Amino acid sequence: MHDYKAPQDLLKNRIILVTGAGSGIGRTAAKTYAAHGATVILLGRTTSKLEAVYDEIEAAGHPQPAIVPLNLEGAAPKDYDEMAMTIEDNFGRLDGLLHNAAILGQRTPVELSSPDIWAQVMQVNAHAPYLLTRALIPLLRQSTDASVIFTSSSVGRKARAYWGAYAVSKFALEGLSQLLADELDDERHNVRVNSLNPGATRTNMRAHAYPAEDPKENPTPEEIMPIYLYLMGRDSQGVTGQQLDAQP
Ligand code: NAP
Repeated sequence: MHDYKAPQDLLKNRIILVTGAGSGIGRTAAKTYAAHGATVILLGRTTSKLEAVYDEIEAAGHPQPAIVPLNLEGAAPKDYDEMAMTIEDNFGRLDGLLHNAAILGQRTPVELSSPDIWAQVMQVNAHAPYLLTRALIPLLRQSTDASVIFTSSSVGRKARAYWGAYAVSKFALEGLSQLLADELDDERHNVRVNSLNPGATRTNMRAHAYPAEDPKENPTPEEIMPIYLYLMGRDSQGVTGQQLDAQP
C-alpha cells in the first residue's frame, strides 16, 4: 500500500469529496485525486484557498472540481442535508469521502484545558464528520464502489499526555469508522470505511504541534499519497474496518 503505483486513470468518473481541501494534506489529496481522473468536491472554510486549488486543478486540465464552502465549526445538521441535496442534484451519487479537516486545539494538561476550546475541537474533528457522513450515506449507497476514509492520528490510537481533545476526537473517529464499517458491510458490500493515520507530515498543523522540529525531517503530503489513492480506488475493494497508516 505504501508503494502503491496508481494507474493514471484510477479514479476516472469517480466523485470524491475532500474536507479541508484548501491546504495541507487535504489540498494535496484533492489535487492528486483530480490528477487520477476524479471529479473532486472541495470542502473547506476558507473560500479563497478552495478557489486556488480549483484553479490549479483546472489549469492542469483535470476534471472540473466543485467548491463547497462550509465551516465545520458552525454548520448545523440542515446545512449538511442541503449540501447532500446539492450533490445529489449535480452528481446523483458519491464514490469517495475523505474526512481530513481538523484542528489541533490546545496542547495542555486536561486539568488546565479550556472547556470552550475542548468543545470546539470535538465539534470540528469528530461531530462534524459524523454529521457529514450521516447526510451523505444515501449518496454513498448510490455508488457501486464507495470508500470513506477517516483521518486519524497516532494519538487517536494510543493517547499521549497533553494532546487533549485532539486525541479524544481522533479516538471518536476511530469508533465512528468501526461502527460504520460494520453497519455498511451489508449484502451489497459497496461502501468500505477505514481510518488512516498520515503520520508526521510537513504541514502547518505539524509545524504548530512541533515548533522546534525541522520540517524537512518529515515527508511532504505528496509523499504519503500512495495509500490515499489505494483506498479511494478499486484495488482496495473489500478492505473495510481497518486502522491503516500512511507511512510504514
Ligand atoms: P492543516 O494543514 O492544518 O490543514 C487542516 C485543514 O482543515 C485546512 O484545510 C483547514 O482549513 C481545514 N479546517 C480546519 N478547521 C476547519 C473548519 N472549521 N471547517 C472547515 N475546514 C476546516 O493540517 P494537516 O496537517 O494537513 O492535517 C490533515 C489531517 O491529518 C488532520 O485530520 C490531522 O489531524 C491529520 N494528521 C496530520 C498529521 C501531520 O503530521 N500533519 C499527523 C497526524 C494526523 P483552513 O486552511 O481554511 O484553515
